[in-house]
Amino acid sequence: MQYKTHLVTSLVITAPLLYANHEWTLVNIGGLALGALLPDIDEESSYIGKRTFFISRFINKLFGHRGLTHWLITWLILSLILFALFHNWFVIALSIGYLLHLCEDRFSVSGLHWLMPFSNKRFAFPSSSMVVYRTGSLKELGFFFAMVVILFTEMHYMNDQLGPTSSVIYRRVEYMIVHSLVEIFKFKHL
Ligand SMILES: [Zn+2]
Repeated sequence: MQYKTHLVTSLVITAPLLYANHEWTLVNIGGLALGALLPDIDEESSYIGKRTFFISRFINKLFGHRGLTHWLITWLILSLILFALFHNWFVIALSIGYLLHLCEDRFSVSGLHWLMPFSNKRFAFPSSSMVVYRTGSLKELGFFFAMVVILFTEMHYMNDQLGPTSSVIYRRVEYMIVHSLVEIFKFKHL
């Protein structure tokens, strides 16, 4: 899944939770976004990988893509350490974003080795399944746009609490939409 789909999907799922707790703030959304992107630090060409070059290369060399950073135990240990050190919604949002990333990757064609290092079992749906997507495919793009519509609908109803948060999110999502449209016209997805 591409970074923009991870971001928007995680926002759609988590926005009601943050909003209901009066925690729909830029800082917490930053935590969610960080968590939603962090697992792909193991891929140099990913959004976060390009911005953490040496760390990304190091992790990739040792564990490969969808290795250590995509194990459930890594999410659990990272969350426990962060919760022990900090008690705030930034950490909660980061942990949720991270877990959602793993769940979202679970629906990709290649699936995930969720239970590593305890089990080598690969969790993946059959490639013919309706719910499975290939990263960067038109199917994923369609899903991204569906999530954008839901996110904007949610934000429409949450507007009174958002303040400056909304314009930042709108700008970011608009950028991702334009970027996706450019990719379509370049036939990058075909
Ligand atoms: Zn991933």
